[in-house]
Amino acid sequence: MAVRNWLSIRSWLRDSVHGWITAAVTESSTNGKGEQLISVESENGSSQIAVTHKNTDERLPLRSLSLEQDMADDLTQLHILNEPNLLNTIRTRFEHKLIYTYSGIVLVALNPYADTAIYSNHHIHQYAKSTPPSDPHIYSVARAAHDGICNAKRNQTIIVSGESGAGKTVSARHIMRYFAVAGKSNDHTGITSTEERILATNPVMEAFGNAKTLRNSNSSRFGRYLQIYFDDKSSIVGAHIRIFLLERSRLVYQPQNERNTHIFYQLCAGIRTDYSLKRELKLGTADEYNYLNQGKCSRLSGVDDASNFVTTRRAMTSLGIDNNIQKQIFKLLAALLHLGNIEISQTSSARQDASVSTTDSSLLRAAELLGVSATAFQKGLMQKTIGVGRIRAESEKIVTSLNKDQAIIARDSLARLIYTRLFDWLVIKLNATLLSTETGASDRARQFVGVLDIYGFEHFQKNSFEQFCINYANEKLQQEFNNHTFKLSQEEYDREGLKVAYINYPDNQPCIEMIESRVGLLALLDEQCRLPAGTDTGLRSKMDEMLRPPYKKALFSGSKSNSLGAGAFTVAHYAHDVTYDVDGFLEKNRDVVPEEHKNLLNESQNPFVKEVCTADLTPTSPPSIVSTPTQPIRTPSMSVRSPPSRMSLNNRTSVDELSSAFNKGHIRSPSALSPSWPPASPGSPSSIGAPTLRKQPTLGGTFKMSLNNLMTTINDTDTHYIRCIKPASQENASWSFDNQKVLSQLRASGVLETIRISRAGYPSKMTFDKFVEKYEILISQRPEKLNNSKTTSQKILEGTITNKSLYAIGKTKVFLRVGVLAHLDKLRSILS
Ligand code: ADP
Ligand code: MG
Repeated sequence: MAVRNWLSIRSWLRDSVHGWITAAVTESSTNGKGEQLISVESENGSSQIAVTHKNTDERLPLRSLSLEQDMADDLTQLHILNEPNLLNTIRTRFEHKLIYTYSGIVLVALNPYADTAIYSNHHIHQYAKSTPPSDPHIYSVARAAHDGICNAKRNQTIIVSGESGAGKTVSARHIMRYFAVAGKSNDHTGITSTEERILATNPVMEAFGNAKTLRNSNSSRFGRYLQIYFDDKSSIVGAHIRIFLLERSRLVYQPQNERNTHIFYQLCAGIRTDYSLKRELKLGTADEYNYLNQGKCSRLSGVDDASNFVTTRRAMTSLGIDNNIQKQIFKLLAALLHLGNIEISQTSSARQDASVSTTDSSLLRAAELLGVSATAFQKGLMQKTIGVGRIRAESEKIVTSLNKDQAIIARDSLARLIYTRLFDWLVIKLNATLLSTETGASDRARQFVGVLDIYGFEHFQKNSFEQFCINYANEKLQQEFNNHTFKLSQEEYDREGLKVAYINYPDNQPCIEMIESRVGLLALLDEQCRLPAGTDTGLRSKMDEMLRPPYKKALFSGSKSNSLGAGAFTVAHYAHDVTYDVDGFLEKNRDVVPEEHKNLLNESQNPFVKEVCTADLTPTSPPSIVSTPTQPIRTPSMSVRSPPSRMSLNNRTSVDELSSAFNKGHIRSPSALSPSWPPASPGSPSSIGAPTLRKQPTLGGTFKMSLNNLMTTINDTDTHYIRCIKPASQENASWSFDNQKVLSQLRASGVLETIRISRAGYPSKMTFDKFVEKYEILISQRPEKLNNSKTTSQKILEGTITNKSLYAIGKTKVFLRVGVLAHLDKLRSILS
């Protein structure tokens, strides 16, 4: 090892509390083993460190000492690029109230939990100008996406990620506002009704899909991909919403200090003075309802549920959901609250059978609002019908009594079913208004910008099926990111004949395969769900048996290798190892509702209930618009490799194969088998499958399909990334910055890794023609005098950049190192 002169160097020292602290090296010597020993002095006192190969970079990276570097706009421009310097830059900027920093193609966004006054219409117009400010801003990302629409005529996606409370939803709202306002002149003349409608989806979706949790008082409980459509003049013509995995458990259960979705509290508070509606819904205050009061915070300080109700209603109205439909929706919500209050007891201590009184006022109210017979409802709550054999003839059905616990579970599953269907119905309704076929808006749609606001990677003390699905989604997004940033640029360098050393980038394909391949975790889960005697523990042993052999990198480890008990298993995700508790996986994945409950709803006399609960809620598809393939078509390794034959699962058809067969029309759809209960559509994770179909789609299966559909869409777009970070040491503290928290989020979002890699390559590239068109002003010779755009490009670069290693000339494009483009733009703005 080369001996370095450590003396007089101020350095960073890894610290267990602060992540990194600065230290001065006071002494350097060599020990008996030939290792270098250095003494450092920091705010923690003196210590001595033996420098080995392993810790040279880890323990003592050098510090940049200029404020300019500390405040760099783009982390990839740091002269000494290492973790502590990067952190220092983000922190210094944050201390100067700058919450945005570029990291190559990624915008790192820190949540200040405070007003910043940087989102006015004036700011939007600044970023929409022909020469926008170069400072990092969420509007500059929106602007870049808009440029992609106008210039390259390609579809765009802005992927917003980060942990709960990091600022994703707020960021998505800012992006939507940018598009609504940017096209307008500086005098702020009003936005059009189309744009207004797109913005109005926020309060509606948030009322029905967001809730107060411990981490965020307005936490989105679903993922959302909003596509904003533009016509050939780049004006907004409409939008389309796709949703992912609405959290179901919250409807019937909330942990301490958490709430159900906002709409219920808004409704209870909002109708307090609307006596006729109040009478009709027979609703009291929120804390009277089991489904609203478990978290013991049905009222929140600083939140005015009643006035938010007005906002939600107004937004619904502007989206074509008139007063009459609103009332129907509120009746359904009220029915759910009454349903949750139905008293279910035990007939006697000897007989465990569930019992519900026919005079229970909650039962009567729920039945009335749902338009069903109270007696049938009461009976249905206590019984379960089991089909025997393959053919469902009446004679082959057995009716059994439920015990109290089973009856409560069944009641709650009915409530969840109704709510998730209402949510799906609402999205379909909004989509019909957002991009109307009647007005011809959908015909005019040419390109779209998609904004993805989806839950970030999660690892808690206890992780269940929900975390598993969320982390699986993040694996997919991370893969897209890897493909985008690493693989594609490498391939392009090769194609263009550039000599750039191959960069080792992290590939999470093996983990994705372990989850979604034909013998992966999801398939095993579905398999277990289909077995009459399938259990969570059965799944665990199957996973032990099947998931280890082919996955060499120890992506999966079972109970033998962890100390968390028989139900636990660990997956090595790209961001973190996460240990899941298998308990409940089967039930959550099956997500079944007793047949009598569904039959009951089929017979509802209330047309709205019937529509919401029984209509085909297959999500409408957005216009299918394919980007102009000006960029190479990506061929990411999404395909699922065929499993080795020894692992085949008795040649059974997987749920996915089945669903894909539905899609292709190869087999009869479940709705054909059971007309009144259409199946969950592949794109709709919150829909419910047909009860009569043995291999009905499972939650995991439909989620996988909707994710893969999303990835197909995203892969045909140009992508922009916003990584939201929650820097506060305590919940909601404003302008607070905790080094360790920020570091772990930077790591989980892949920023730390990409920065190393993007710096090693050429982050900017442009075709010769484009480059000449933009920068010919920088040379005196007229381009037509030079024989082609390649030589012209070369001349421009030779004349402006002295250091030849800062650029490379490929076969069709110029490639520029970090900072070169900014330099050229500066020169151009001086000359023009
Ligand atoms: P996420 O969707 O990532 O869970 P949110 O977008 O709901 O998080 O943000 C949580 C809270 O953080 C918001 O309610 C708001 O108070 C605050 N917040 C988020 N982004 C910003 C921002 N850019 N400026 C100021 N406050 C913000
Ligand atoms: Mg959110």
